[in-house]
Amino acid sequence: MKVHSTKAMAARAVDLCAVLLYAGPPGGPPAGMPAGPGAGPSAGPSVESVAAVLRAHGETVVPVHGAGPLHGAGPLHGAGPVHGAGPGPAGGDLPVGRDVPAQPVSPGVAMSPYLDEDDVAAMREAAERLVEVLAAPGPDEAAGLLNRLLAGTARPPRLTSHGGTSPWHVHVDSRDDAPWAEWFLASSAMALAVLLAEHQRVPGGLCASPGCRRPYLDLGGGSPRRYCSARCAPRERVAAHRSRA
Ligand SMILES: [Zn+2]
Repeated sequence: MKVHSTKAMAARAVDLCAVLLYAGPPGGPPAGMPAGPGAGPSAGPSVESVAAVLRAHGETVVPVHGAGPLHGAGPLHGAGPVHGAGPGPAGGDLPVGRDVPAQPVSPGVAMSPYLDEDDVAAMREAAERLVEVLAAPGPDEAAGLLNRLLAGTARPPRLTSHGGTSPWHVHVDSRDDAPWAEWFLASSAMALAVLLAEHQRVPGGLCASPGCRRPYLDLGGGSPRRYCSARCAPRERVAAHRSRA
C-alpha cells in the first residue's frame, strides 16, 4: 500500500521535520527564531499544526491541548474505542484513517491517537536528529548517523496489521502503541536507511537558501538538489546577483 512505501515514509519524515523545526512557510525563519521585525520568537509548532501534517500522511491523530495527563499510562490510554464514539478529549476531531483499530484489539494494545505538547516536544528532538542525517556531507557520514539512530531507537522489525484494520506492514518501533516520537524516529530512520542503500546517496538535504534550511527529500538520479522548493532557488539567485553588483 502506497502509504506504507519507503518513499512515503521518508516524505512523511521530511514533512514532519519541516513543521517541527520550521513551522512557517518556505523562506521564513526556523521555529524558535524571531519571525521578523516586531515579532517575538515562536515557541515551536502547535499541536494542531503537527497533527495536520500527520493527517495529511494518513495518520489518525487527536490533538490534545496541554501536556501530560492523557499521555502514556493515563486513564484514557487503551481504555476504550477511539473511533466514532464522540469527540476526543480535544472536543473536536474524530480520528480518521490512522493505523488505529476501530476497537482495541485487547486491553493494553490499543493505539493512542492522542497527540499532546509533550509528544510534540519529543518529536522535535527526534526531528533535530533526523535533519542531521539530511545535512550529512555524504552517504558515509549519513550511514554512520543512521546506524547510531537505529541502534538507539529501532527494535526488531515486526509485521502488524493493527488488528486487521490496515494492510500488513513493517514497524520498527517497540509496539503498536509506542509514543509518537519513538514511532517517528524509528520509522523515519529506517526509511532513510533503506533509501540510502537503494540510491547510494544521502536521500535528502537541507535547503541551501540561508534563510530557509528546510529539509527536502532528494531521490533523483541527476545532480543533487539544493533547495527545498522553487521559491527558495530564485531568492538565492537574486541575492547572489545583488552581492555581485
Ligand atoms: Zn528553502
